[in-house]
Parts: sequence; structure tokens; C-alpha cells
Amino acid sequence: MSLPIIGVTGDIITAKFYGNFLNERSGINDPYIRAVERAEGIPIILPVSKPEFASKLINNIDGLILSGGRDISPYNYGEEPLNEIMAIDPDRDAFEFALLKEALAKNKPILAICRGAQILNVLLGGSLYQDISYNKDFKLQHAQESAPYIPVHRIKTEKNTFINSVLGDEAFVNSLHHQVIKSLGNNLKVTASSSDGVIEAIEKTDSSFVIGVQWHPEILAKDNQKMQTIFNALTSNSK
Ligand code: MN
Repeated sequence: MSLPIIGVTGDIITAKFYGNFLNERSGINDPYIRAVERAEGIPIILPVSKPEFASKLINNIDGLILSGGRDISPYNYGEEPLNEIMAIDPDRDAFEFALLKEALAKNKPILAICRGAQILNVLLGGSLYQDISYNKDFKLQHAQESAPYIPVHRIKTEKNTFINSVLGDEAFVNSLHHQVIKSLGNNLKVTASSSDGVIEAIEKTDSSFVIGVQWHPEILAKDNQKMQTIFNALTSNSK
């Protein structure tokens, strides 16, 4: 049996290491790795590196997870930074755009989570609200104060979509984002929304498996089989 290799994009995290010294560490939150393992995929972290490495990296993986993280530089969608934007990392932006471009060109299955869904939207020409407060219709708390494994708001899914087939018409999700999709990128459709109109899931209409979700299913998947099924679908499409 040949298990698919699933690349998970990494982040650079400043953390205390060896006493009080601050170190830059390459890595990603462990729940992504365990969700891929349970889905019978072989996880491999793709640390932030040179965009020119993207082609070779994508050739060597079977599926791609674009993970969560910091804000995308607004210059990528033609805006200057507004007051409420948070930390950005242009190097990670450039690397992930390159990986995503290669993965789309090579028809690799892609699961884009939180910041990842926003990367997918922006690469395809869409834009973001730099902070949820810039649209007064958005009333729910999307940057939850509760622990990340606690679902906090409902979403409704659209019929005849991947996310509807997995979650049904409604689901209860966690919410760890302060930015929101504004205009939708090319060949994307909205597949789930919250009651205040925030776009919570997208799919690429002209690819076999390119899925974006605004919540964090990897954190819920350990105890929620429907959320795990999202990862199972990624690995089964990656064979
Ligand atoms: Mn949300």
C-alpha cells in the first residue's frame, strides 16, 4: 500500500528555547500533523523557504495543506495596511503563493485552512477585509476568546458542494480569524457562510479537489469524525 505524502506549509515561530533565549523555529501546530496521520497520509512540513524551490517540492508531494498563520500582506491584493491589520510575513506569503501556483498547475489536491483559504482567494485575484470590523454587518465573534477546540459559531453549507457532502447542511465550528474574504477570486465559489454573512468555506470550481475553510478543522478532528473526514478526503484524492 502506498500512502500519499501530504505537505503542510510551515511557519516561523519565535519561542523561548534554552532558558530565556528567544529562537526562531520552523514548524507548524501539531494538530495538522495528527489529522494527516489519522487520514493515512504521510505528513511532511514544508518550512518557509525560497519560492524557486516550489516546483521541486510540489513534484515530491501528493497533496498540499496550506496552514493557518499571520495576516497576508495587503499589497498582494492592492491595498495599503489599515490600522487594524496584524503582523505579516512577506517571505511566507511569497513561498506559499509559489507552492500554490505549482500545486494548481500540477493538479494536486489542496486543503487550504484559515490563512490558507485567504492565500487561495488572493492568488486567484480576490481580496480580504483587513479586519472584520471594516464590515459592520459582521456581528459574530470570529476571533474566539474560548479555547480553540471549542466550536463557537454555526455555518450553513451550500448544496452540491464538497463541504455539504461531508458536514451536512449545518455545522458548528471554531473561529480563530480576524480577517475575512471580501471579493471572491476567479473560479471560486462560496460553499459555507455564517449567519452574519462571513464566507466560511470556498471551493475551486474547475479543479478536482481545491477546498478552503475559514475555521480550523484540524483542531476539531480528533473528536469529530466529520471534521476528520475533510482530511480523509484530501488523502484519498491524493493517491
Ligand atoms: Mn468564523
